[in-house]
Amino acid sequence: MMDFLGDHPALDLLNTVVQVNGEAVERWQSGADVAQWLAQAGYLPGGAAAAAAAAAAGLPHLLEQARALRELLRRLVAARKAGLALDGTDLATLNAALAYGRRHMALAAGQDGALALRPVYAADTAQQVLAPLAESAAELLAGDFALVKHCENPECSMWFMDRTKSHRRRWCSMAICGNRHKVASFRQRRASPPT
Ligand SMILES: [Zn+2]
Repeated sequence: MMDFLGDHPALDLLNTVVQVNGEAVERWQSGADVAQWLAQAGYLPGGAAAAAAAAAAGLPHLLEQARALRELLRRLVAARKAGLALDGTDLATLNAALAYGRRHMALAAGQDGALALRPVYAADTAQQVLAPLAESAAELLAGDFALVKHCENPECSMWFMDRTKSHRRRWCSMAICGNRHKVASFRQRRASPPT
């Protein structure tokens, strides 16, 4: 699925803007789009029903807040990847987003009957709904960045976490950018045959 090629929720967040024919395409056009994405990413327990409820409740500013968190993270990830110190204001903004988080633990039996302890997040406001996603972003920034990669296709804007064993993942998707690259280098070889 195109939406979740990043192998990390914070990178999937960045990937909700995609490059299509050299133009940035915004995949979030409404609060409902954001709620849907959050449900798919596992940030709204209850899945599609929770997403529909969140969208219906309006959650004022969910779209703006989600986009703001995403672009904040985009700057922080770029700085971190470049080995630069994080901007103080951006860091404070991320910490403010984290401060909205309210959670408690809940014990429940899973489908296999085994007990699991899981955090339950308050979701009464857009800021609260986005807080666990901000936590994922903060965890990403605090972690090892060597495997955080940008797709090698210069026309692609996708980020991903390289979880392959050999750590040689180069493309957001083999089917999309990897294949395009293969076809392009094949054409290049054909265009300039060895002399
Ligand atoms: Zn790509």
